[in-house]
Amino acid sequence: MSLTDDHFARKIAAQSKAWEETSDAPKKERSHEAAAPKMGICDKCKKEALLRSYRFRETSVSNGAASFGTVTKHLCEDCAPKSRAQKDAEVPKLNNKQIRNLMRSAKKGLL
Ligand SMILES: [Zn+2]
Repeated sequence: MSLTDDHFARKIAAQSKAWEETSDAPKKERSHEAAAPKMGICDKCKKEALLRSYRFRETSVSNGAASFGTVTKHLCEDCAPKSRAQKDAEVPKLNNKQIRNLMRSAKKGLL
């Protein structure tokens, strides 16, 4: 039992390490929703630019009770969250291995 747990823990650790190593690399966008940039006013710098929407987890405390919610912000390229912030965004991401598998499948013409 403990052997299995250890194996599992190491697998998780390896996956998050792979994530760290790739977090700054350009990623293939998943076409699960309208990810195409749109013109609009950036929520952060208030400039008109091509915007993408990002979802953030937000924790607010009022009357001593914490509440959790998700906020959507439309940010330009300059204000787009990088690496660490992206981890907080609730957008499903492919890890390194998944991308490699995907590429392999694509090469075989399975997609
Ligand atoms: Zn901006």
